[in-house]
Order: sequence, then structure tokens, then C-alpha cells
Amino acid sequence: MIKENLEKIRATLPESVTLVAVSKTKPVSDLQEAYDAGQRIFGENHALEMRDKHEVLPKDIQWHFIGHLQTNKIKYIIPFVTLIHSIDSANLLEAVNKEAKKHDRIVDCLLQFHIAMEETKFGLDMDEARQLLDSEAFKQMQNVRICGVMGMATFTDDEAEVRKEFKHLKDIFETLRKDYFADQMQFKQISMGMSDDYPIAVEEGATLVRVGSKIFGARNYNV
Ligand SMILES: *Cc1c(COP(=O)(O)O)cnc(C)c1O
Repeated sequence: MIKENLEKIRATLPESVTLVAVSKTKPVSDLQEAYDAGQRIFGENHALEMRDKHEVLPKDIQWHFIGHLQTNKIKYIIPFVTLIHSIDSANLLEAVNKEAKKHDRIVDCLLQFHIAMEETKFGLDMDEARQLLDSEAFKQMQNVRICGVMGMATFTDDEAEVRKEFKHLKDIFETLRKDYFADQMQFKQISMGMSDDYPIAVEEGATLVRVGSKIFGARNYNV
């Protein structure tokens, strides 16, 4: 079913939107099936799991890290990660920069914002983001590149609430672009939308959608 699911989802996405297949907890055979159906971008939320899958799967896969990243796990993914969606503190960005420097890489990152009503979801607010972007430490970071923003909406059936949160993330993106990245073409990504809400996210301007269970089926545990 993975191929059919992918085809169904791709058919609904405009060309401006890139599909990240969220394969966390799923076996390598499922990822291979998606790969054989043409999928090249995969999202994972555990560093070691991502590293292990990277080791055995084709090398032209682009690996996106989408979960909360602990600083002591950064080293496992820096050699190969394509995009880190989940920069939620200045400390984390600094640690990523440091590790990327060791590997002589410039690693693309998104700033994760807290846009949901739930307390538990990680992310920056606007003040924290400004503090980070204004800091001398940030200006010294030569091995990370901020390419946009990421957010997760509240887990709810209330479409109006979800839409409002996605609009908020889009506003954050526009404000940051104007104030910090006006002349930087790479600042163009808005990562929002999951299996249950990606159509709304696309309507509200997502450029990256992160879809897991709609492609691979339900996960055994919720992470
Ligand atoms: C698990 C996860 C997804 C995908 O969730 P689904 O509802 O299965 O599509 C997207 N984004 C993040 C950050 C996730 O952790």
C-alpha cells in the first residue's frame, strides 16, 4: 500500500510543496518500498535510528531530522543529515554548528516555533528567535544555515484552530524574512502539516509537509 499511498498524496500536492516521508519506527523494508516508489526524502526523529537506516539504505536519500535533538546525539547525524527541522534553542544551534565545523559541512536548519496550545510541544517564541538571531554568537556561526521555520499545530479536530496556528507560523516566517533574511534566497522553507492536517497547511503556505502514518500506516507507539 505504501506506493499507492504516496501516489495519492503526491497527486494532491502542488509543485511548490515537498513531501517528507516520516518513517520513524518503521522498518527499513518499508523505507525501501517508498524509495522504490520514487520517494527520496525521509524524516526521522531519533538520531541513532536515523543513522542506522542511513547506513543500510541507498545513498541518494535525503535525511531530514524532525524530532527533538539532544546535543549529545548530534554527532550521529551531522555527517549526512540534509535538513534539521527542529532547532529549538540557541544552545542546540551552537552545538550543531560546532559539530558541523568538525565535518567541514554547512548544515541547513529550520527554527522550530511553538505554535500549538499544548504545553509539551517544543519550540521557540518570537522573542527567543530574535534573541538568537541578534546574538553575536549566531553571527559567528559559519557552519549552519537557517532556511526557514517549522511548527506543529495542536492535535485537535478543530480545523479553525489548526488553520489559525499555521497562519501564525506563516506570519512568523514573513516577519523573520523581512527583518533578518531579506537578501538570503535560502530562507524559503515553511515546514508544517502532518497526516491529519497537511491539506490545511498546504493552503496556508507550507513548502514542506511531514507525512508519516498516511504513507506507512499507524505506528505501534506514539512518538
Ligand atoms: C511523527 C511526526 C510527523 C508525522 O506524523 P503523522 O501524523 O504520522 O503524519 C510529523 N512531524 C513530526 C515532528 C513528527 O514527530
